[in-house]
Amino acid sequence: MDQWAADLRDSVTQGAVLREDFGADAGEIDAVRAEYPMRIPRYYYNLIEEPGDPIWKQAVPSIQELQDVEADEDPLREEEDSPVPRLTHRYPDRVLFLVTDRCPMYCRFCTRKRMVGRTSDVNQKTIALGLDYIRSHPEIRDVLLSGGDPLMLSDQKLERIISSLRSIPHVEIIRIGTKFPCVLPSRITGGLCAMLSRYHPLYINTHFNHPREVTPESRAACERLANAGIPVGCQKVLLRGVNDDPQIIKELMHKLLLMRVRPYYLYQTDLTRGTNHFRTRVEVGLDIIRALRGHTTGFAVPQFVIDAPGGGGKIPLMPEYVVELGGNEVVMRNFEGRQYVYPQVAEDDDVGVRQGRVINF
Ligand SMILES: *Cc1c(COP(=O)(O)O)cnc(C)c1O
Ligand code: SF4
Repeated sequence: MDQWAADLRDSVTQGAVLREDFGADAGEIDAVRAEYPMRIPRYYYNLIEEPGDPIWKQAVPSIQELQDVEADEDPLREEEDSPVPRLTHRYPDRVLFLVTDRCPMYCRFCTRKRMVGRTSDVNQKTIALGLDYIRSHPEIRDVLLSGGDPLMLSDQKLERIISSLRSIPHVEIIRIGTKFPCVLPSRITGGLCAMLSRYHPLYINTHFNHPREVTPESRAACERLANAGIPVGCQKVLLRGVNDDPQIIKELMHKLLLMRVRPYYLYQTDLTRGTNHFRTRVEVGLDIIRALRGHTTGFAVPQFVIDAPGGGGKIPLMPEYVVELGGNEVVMRNFEGRQYVYPQVAEDDDVGVRQGRVINF
């Protein structure tokens, strides 16, 4: 057995372990995990310092999950936009293709809580149907493999899917979304990286939410991917009591750049059933972006998005930098709050005013 598979098998899956180590209420944890499974790789479990800390909140079931019964199980309507099971074709040129419903860790805030670790309806057949769909739709130039976590598949199974995609001429890029570098870095083996590097252009998006998740091990895993020529991005979710603070996000973004990972999206928490206790107000995310833009490296600033309920796709949210968009000039606010005026090109005269100005106040 591969080392990572042995590590995964050794994960914490029972409330009793948390009772012994931290005095947690095992009955409560077991009641929640009967509905929404728990799996915490030992590596990630060892990052917990005390009950209720940011690592704990992401990994350990909370009774609040069961108290949230009103919300929708699939607010993003991923199933309705599925022409074949487990493939969502929402945007014109790209698809989301779920190739497993298993994960190394079951994140408590997961937007696919309805399925991960619960259903088992991703199989050879749905994968074959998905590949057929992609093959017969020449407009698809970008395939995003997700799940669950695609790296739960063995290297051989994963390679079969990736090489099938690569043999489709109109598929330009392949993307993999994976949590492994963050929760079980031993999965990112030299063998895996060598295999993936045969199918470029291939991109990986990983998922770190808190600076404490950046360790020598996770850093080495991200560097192995980068050394294999794979651009690594990171999406994160804004989570109440975990990372809903500009300083925490800034520290995380800086740590990502140190391991050659580029920040990608910062998601507002979806309206998924069982995750309501993680929601923040939208202003929190806007304040975080305002605290980063101009104050740090441009590409350390993630794009803050809400995945629109009802299947509208990701919508970017920006703090207001445009004060006024007039016919003759644009009034803008900079990162320090000062206002500047940029003259517009006249609509009937492409020279127009060439002098900008600063508004003194
Ligand atoms: C997020 C997502 C994608 C990829 O979107 P990008 O903005 O290109 O990263 C594609 N399909 C679905 C259904 C998605 O949710
Ligand atoms: S790894 Fe991703 S899909 Fe799996 S539980 Fe965590 S957030 Fe959800």
